[in-house]
Amino acid sequence: MLKAIVIGAGFGGLASALRLRKKGYEVLVLDKLDKHGGRGYVYERGGFTYDAGPSVITAPFLIEELFALFDKQMDDYIELVPVEPWYHIRFDCGARFDYSGSLQKMISEVERFCPSDVKGYQQLLEKCRTIFEVGFLKLGDQPFSTLASMIKLAPEMIRLESYLTVHQLISRYIKDERLRQVFSFHPLLVGGNPFSTTSIYSLIHFLEREYGVWYAMGGTGAIVKAIVDLMDEVGVQSRLECTVSKIIVDRGKAVGIETRDGHRIQADLVVANADAPFVYKYLIPKNDRKKWTNARIEQVKFSMGLFVLYFGTNKRFVDVNHHTILFGPRYRDLLEEIFNKKTLAEDFSLYLHRPSRTDPSIAPPGHDCFYVLAPVPNLQGNVEWSAVGEEFAGRILAYLERTVLPDLRNHIVDRFFVTPEHFRDNLLSHHGSGFSVQPTLFQSAYFRFHNKSEDVENLYFVGAGTHPGAGLPGVLTSAKVVDRLVSEAV
Ligand SMILES: Cc1cc2nc3c(=O)[nH]c(=O)nc-3n(C[C@H](O)[C@H](O)[C@H](O)COP(=O)(O)OP(=O)(O)OC[C@H]3O[C@@H](n4cnc5c(N)ncnc54)[C@H](O)[C@@H]3O)c2cc1C
Repeated sequence: MLKAIVIGAGFGGLASALRLRKKGYEVLVLDKLDKHGGRGYVYERGGFTYDAGPSVITAPFLIEELFALFDKQMDDYIELVPVEPWYHIRFDCGARFDYSGSLQKMISEVERFCPSDVKGYQQLLEKCRTIFEVGFLKLGDQPFSTLASMIKLAPEMIRLESYLTVHQLISRYIKDERLRQVFSFHPLLVGGNPFSTTSIYSLIHFLEREYGVWYAMGGTGAIVKAIVDLMDEVGVQSRLECTVSKIIVDRGKAVGIETRDGHRIQADLVVANADAPFVYKYLIPKNDRKKWTNARIEQVKFSMGLFVLYFGTNKRFVDVNHHTILFGPRYRDLLEEIFNKKTLAEDFSLYLHRPSRTDPSIAPPGHDCFYVLAPVPNLQGNVEWSAVGEEFAGRILAYLERTVLPDLRNHIVDRFFVTPEHFRDNLLSHHGSGFSVQPTLFQSAYFRFHNKSEDVENLYFVGAGTHPGAGLPGVLTSAKVVDRLVSEAV
């Protein structure tokens, strides 16, 4: 039986492992952490179950497909429930917008903010549908291994105006500044600045509308657990707390890996789910790389970093929605500081996750379980997290207390936070980026890290830094691309 090694047990790695197993490979998944899931890690403390990362579940059919590979039903493993509203948005001035799954409610909300934007909103949705049909349905799971594949696509990209940024595209249809924020924040969910992300990513609008926004009872960790149960059933092996320090290359071909403690494991093919720039720079000897030299890797634009504060309260904040976005006083200028100047600003915009609204079982009775996330500069900036982290956490809690969680600090019974240093040190993400490579036009499709290595044969890449990109729909789709490429290679 041919042997495959998957480095990394993030969603992309787990999906690839199952797809390779289906092809008949003996599959071994290796991960540095003590649990599966990567950014979908779960912290269990004092009766609280904190999902570390992904919280907005969309396109569940991509998970369903993994079970269907083995004639199983996802519903036998996971209970998904819809979330409504999808996002509750609060502006710094106190205005509130419910971003709903119901089109009618959305139109009413847009009308309440700016009646003259209703028509533009409807036209915007149509535009996003067209982009979705090409960008997601037609091209999402296609490999972009050759320049010819990209050139062939150029007329379509021009027709769709992919040269515009998300914010430019939205601004064509929406005039109200606050609504422009409401409809342009989505790139932040996949590591991009709306002012530099290609408008192709406006497809996320329609993706959500097509497939809905869901929550897995028990948390996103319940999805990881279900996938791992399936792996056990079909014979995919895993080894946790095992760091890969090298991909062994023999005459241009990946032939196995070496672990940090010196073990060598042979394989017929290797799939890297670890961060692609990190893998090239640190796991593949320099002499085996022609394209992805260290200098070239450092030219890549990396996504922002994330500051995530997890906390549990001895009270239920019953009025708070499952997903809340709190826009700070500045938008463009704040993003400029985070992405380009890479300085930590005084103000912030936040995403507040309160899964215990939908699922009280993840907190002790009468308690609530939260995380709040702030986009911050990645480690290419000079923020001294050990010095400022605690103070930054305090400022965020004070802001939450003033806006949506009154008297919060008197009710917190558990709390901890992670900074971009966690992403660098524990997830081995280059420069501590939250989502690997930024989704700009010239870092998408052919221009992103290829799913089949250009430098080393029998080496494939799956996950956020590769095509089509970050987010669960992106990384699960990248596993489909690898599936296709492996089939083409044999
Ligand atoms: C706070 C946060 C919130 C998010 N919210 C959402 C959301 O709501 N919805 C959504 O769709 N997406 C969300 N995302 C994005 C999404 O979580 C990621 O894009 C996705 O999970 C990344 O999956 P991946 O396959 O790239 O692997 P990762 O999750 O990045 O996992 C890679 C794994 O590789 C392991 N590894 C790395 N190097 C080595 C090595 N040398 N040896 C062994 N193992 C190694 C790491 O330990 C890690 O477990 C969020 C991300 C974060 C951080």
